[in-house]
Amino acid sequence: MKLIFEKSIKGRGTEYVPRFDYIGLNIISSEMKREKAPGFPEIAETDLLRHYTELIKRTYGVNSGFYPLGSCTMKYNPRINEEVSSLKGFTNIHPLQPIETAEGCRHVLKLAEKYLCEITGMDKMTFQPSAGAQGEFTGLLLIRAYHKSRNDIARTKILIPDSAHGTNPASAAMAGFQVVNIPSREDGCIDLERLKELAGEDTAGLMLTNPNTLGIFEKDIMEITRVIHQSGGLVYYDGANLNAIMGQIRPGDMGFDVIHLNLHKTFSTPHGGGGPGSGPVGCKEFLAEFLPMSNYFTSSEDSQYEFPRVNVGQKSIGKVKAFHGNFLVVVRALTYIMTLGKEGISEASEMAVLNSTYLKTRLSEDYDIANTGNTMHEFVITMEEVKKKYGVSALDVAKRLLDYGIYPPTMYFPMIVKEALMVEPTETESLETLNKVVDIFKSIFDEIINNPEKLKNAPVTTPVGRLDEVMAARIPKLKYEKEIIIN
Ligand SMILES: *Cc1c(COP(=O)(O)O)cnc(C)c1O
Repeated sequence: MKLIFEKSIKGRGTEYVPRFDYIGLNIISSEMKREKAPGFPEIAETDLLRHYTELIKRTYGVNSGFYPLGSCTMKYNPRINEEVSSLKGFTNIHPLQPIETAEGCRHVLKLAEKYLCEITGMDKMTFQPSAGAQGEFTGLLLIRAYHKSRNDIARTKILIPDSAHGTNPASAAMAGFQVVNIPSREDGCIDLERLKELAGEDTAGLMLTNPNTLGIFEKDIMEITRVIHQSGGLVYYDGANLNAIMGQIRPGDMGFDVIHLNLHKTFSTPHGGGGPGSGPVGCKEFLAEFLPMSNYFTSSEDSQYEFPRVNVGQKSIGKVKAFHGNFLVVVRALTYIMTLGKEGISEASEMAVLNSTYLKTRLSEDYDIANTGNTMHEFVITMEEVKKKYGVSALDVAKRLLDYGIYPPTMYFPMIVKEALMVEPTETESLETLNKVVDIFKSIFDEIINNPEKLKNAPVTTPVGRLDEVMAARIPKLKYEKEIIIN
C-alpha cells in the first residue's frame, strides 16, 4: 500500500480551504513565516477517503473483534459516551473563560468526583493526571508530601510486590523513592512474613496492584494494610483494573489511603492509540491538602457548583498537568457510570470475573495456567512446559492467533511467569465469542502437537508477516524519508 504522500498529485484537491492570501498573510511577521511549503499531500476527497478506509481495514481494534490484552481492559466503549462528550457545551469551552459560563463543566467534575469517591471509598479526587502512570506518580508525591509535612524524612522506601504492574516501580523511582521488591509466594500472593520484615521506619509506603498481574486478589489484604500503617507508612492502591472489583468492595474500606484509576480502561474511554487518557487520583481526607493545585475557577463564591479540589494552599504538590487534565475523558466516564447505575457497575465487574473464569477453565483443558488460584478479571497462561516439549513459544502462539483473526493476549508479562500469555477477555464479550475463542485456542494446541512449523511461520494471513522485532526496536524507521517536492 502506498503512503498518502506517494499518492499526492500537484494541484489535486487543494480547494477545500481558502488560500492563505485571502486571510491576510501579512499579519504574520517575516521571521515567523516558513520558507518552504509544509509538504502536505494533495489528493482528491474520494482518494483521501479510500486511503483511510484501506488503513482502517488493515488495523485491528475492539470494534473488529476479540482483544484479550491482559491488564489493558480492551472492552467495548458505549457510543453514548461519544455522543455526550461531543456536545458543544463540553467541546467549545476554554479553561480560562469566565467561571459562571462553565457551570455545567464544573458540575461534571464534581459529580464524577462524588461517584468515583463512592466507588473507591475515598474522600477527594483530582482529575489532573492524564494516564495511569501519571496518576501513580501523583499519588506517590502525595505520600512524599505527607511524610515531609510531619518532618518524617527518613521514609525513603516504597515496597512493591514482584507481581505489580511494571509502571509501579518506575513511578516510585520517578517520585524519588527507593524501590524494595517483595517476593510472591507459590500461590501468587504477597509473602506476608517478608513484608513484615521489610516494613519499618524507612518505609514511606506500599504500592499494591490488586488484583495483581496474575489476576489474583491479595487475600491477606486487611493484614497487609495494617502492617504498613503500623510501620508508619501509607498504602497505595493501583486501581487501573477496577473492573475486577467495582461495586463489590472498596479500596478505601480495605485501609488504602491513595488510589489511581484508569478512566480509559475501567470507565470506557477508547484507548491504545496513545491517548488522551485520564488517571484520576483519589485520597483520604488527611491527604487532600496535598492534592494538585487548580488555581483557576476559584474566585466565584456565589457559584452554584463549588469546584472540586480547589487547592491553592502551600502544601499542594503543585500541578502535574495543565488545568483539569483531559476533561472529555471524564465526561465519558461520568456518562458510563450514570448509564450503568449502581446495579450496572457491580454487574460489570461480576461479568468481567465470570468471563475470565469461564475462559480460564475452558483453556486449562489444554494449556497450563500460572498459579492456579482464584483469579478475577484476568489469568496468565504459561507456555514453559509446552516450549520444552514441542519447541513452540508464547510468541509463536500469539502470532498464530492473528491468522485466526483475533488479537493476541499480552505477552511475556508478568515477568515472574515464564513464557507468559496474559489473558483478559473483559465483561463485554458474549458466551458465543468466548466459545469461538476456545475453539481457536484448541485448534492451535492441535497444531502445536501435530504441525509446529505452522506456528513458527505465523502470521501468514496478515498484511505484514512476522517482523524482525530486534531490528524493529534497534533500527526503527519512523519517518518518510523521500524528498517531498511540492510547488
Ligand atoms: C494500564 C495499567 C497502568 C498504567 O496505566 P497507563 O494509562 O498506561 O499509564 C498501571 N497499572 C495497571 C495495573 C495497569 O493495568
